[in-house]
Amino acid sequence: MGLLDRFKKNQPEEIAAEDSPEEQQAEENEQELADDPTGETASSEDKKGLWSRFRQGLKRTRAILGTDIRDLGKQLQNQGSLVDDTFLEQLFAVLVKTDMGGGPAGSICERIKSDFRGRVVQLEEVLQLIRSEIKDRLDQPEEPIQFASSGLTVIMVVGVNGSGKTTSIAKLTHLFQSQGKRVVLGAADTFRAAAVEQLTIWAERLGAGIVTGEQGGDPASVAHRAVAEALASEADVCIVDTAGRLQTQVNLMKELEKIRRVISNQVPEAPHETLLVLDATGGQNGLSQASGFTEAAGCTGIILAKLDGTAKGGIVIPIHDEFELPVKYIGQGEQPADLALFNADQFVDALFSTDDS
Ligand code: GDP
Ligand code: MG
Repeated sequence: MGLLDRFKKNQPEEIAAEDSPEEQQAEENEQELADDPTGETASSEDKKGLWSRFRQGLKRTRAILGTDIRDLGKQLQNQGSLVDDTFLEQLFAVLVKTDMGGGPAGSICERIKSDFRGRVVQLEEVLQLIRSEIKDRLDQPEEPIQFASSGLTVIMVVGVNGSGKTTSIAKLTHLFQSQGKRVVLGAADTFRAAAVEQLTIWAERLGAGIVTGEQGGDPASVAHRAVAEALASEADVCIVDTAGRLQTQVNLMKELEKIRRVISNQVPEAPHETLLVLDATGGQNGLSQASGFTEAAGCTGIILAKLDGTAKGGIVIPIHDEFELPVKYIGQGEQPADLALFNADQFVDALFSTDDS
């Protein structure tokens, strides 16, 4: 039974996106690239440069959507340019490799089948249809941070351990500072000592204010003091870091609720944003771990971090389908400037770009 048939028979668990040896090699090469200190360009704030870096980061997905599908195109030509079951089967396998998931890949193939079956087609037409199907699915305007109409804006950042919360906070701080805003950070991930230290280093590097607490101390009290400090110093934004793991998930959710309550007692409309940070390299399994946060933490948007190295860009599709939250920002690398406002059209164009400059 082929992949597409198995998907239709509801066996999506067997359709994991597996890496070929060539892809594993590409992964290693990417890692070397990531280790290359010539990542200097990362500090450029030029928007065009930023998107060109994101396009580079999406190299693996572009290889799948470019090279793999073009190889299929040659085959298509050899067999008289007719879309048949074998072609659809192979196309499905290629689409699944982008991490978009069996559902979206299956429905794109169905659409191609109904539009093109039995007709002589050029590969470009197929690519065009895939591209417009993905664009339709991701249909979302740019959704920047909603700042308070006046006074302090408070942003809570949540997500599983290691997803990229603290690094994303550094990137947001840099972004707000470049807009002339003053930022105070609250190190409310008191679960791990290293977490406080990491945020403190970023605050010093970026010249932002920071409020910390003891390891194991009450995170809500740190959040309270951070907001108080931001109000007293008339800062524009207070960003509160939180723990991604506690003894139990229930404890964690209770803690996040308590932090929210404390913050909203100080500033009635706060937190103005609660951003869920997702790790783009985790594939679909990574997403289910994060799904618990959306309810308890009252998330308003997503930051998709680590969209570089081993990440595959198709992951934005299941994120869009499963979380019902806008992807507000995408992040890559570990430099403060490596954060871009998510633009669905530009993103899809980057996925299909064959331009390596
Ligand atoms: P947290 O536990 O959610 O706060 O995650 P951290 O911000 O500490 O990030 C975990 C690890 O991922 C760290 O080693 C970061 O340097 C790294 N990291 C975070 N964001 C990115 C990113 O966008 N790209 C890459 N390549 N690494 C990242
Ligand atoms: Mg952290």
